Amino acid sequence: MKLEVDIVWLGVRPMHNKWASCSTNGHLNFNAELLALDQDLWDYVIVHELLHFFVPNHGKLWKVLMRAHLGDYEVSESRLKSLSSAPGINEH
Ligand SMILES: [Zn+2]
Repeated sequence: MKLEVDIVWLGVRPMHNKWASCSTNGHLNFNAELLALDQDLWDYVIVHELLHFFVPNHGKLWKVLMRAHLGDYEVSESRLKSLSSAPGINEH
C-alpha cells in the first residue's frame, strides 16, 4: 500500500505539547524540535500523521498500518516518549 494524501500544507514550527499535528484539510505541522532527532523518529512521526488522514484514532487498523510501513514502530514510539516530557504523540 502506498500512502496517497493530498498535502496542501507542510510546516515546521515550535510546538509545546506534541510532535506533530494534522487536520483533515491536508495540513500537516511538525514540531521544530524533531529536526534534531534521528531519521527513524522522523519516519515514525510522519507516518503516524499520514495515517491519521485514513484512520482518525490509534485503533487496531492504525496499528496494523503502522507495522506495515515501519515494522517495529513501538521502538521509535517509546524513544519519542522518553525524549519528551510532553503529553506525547498519542494524544492526537
Ligand atoms: Zn496520533
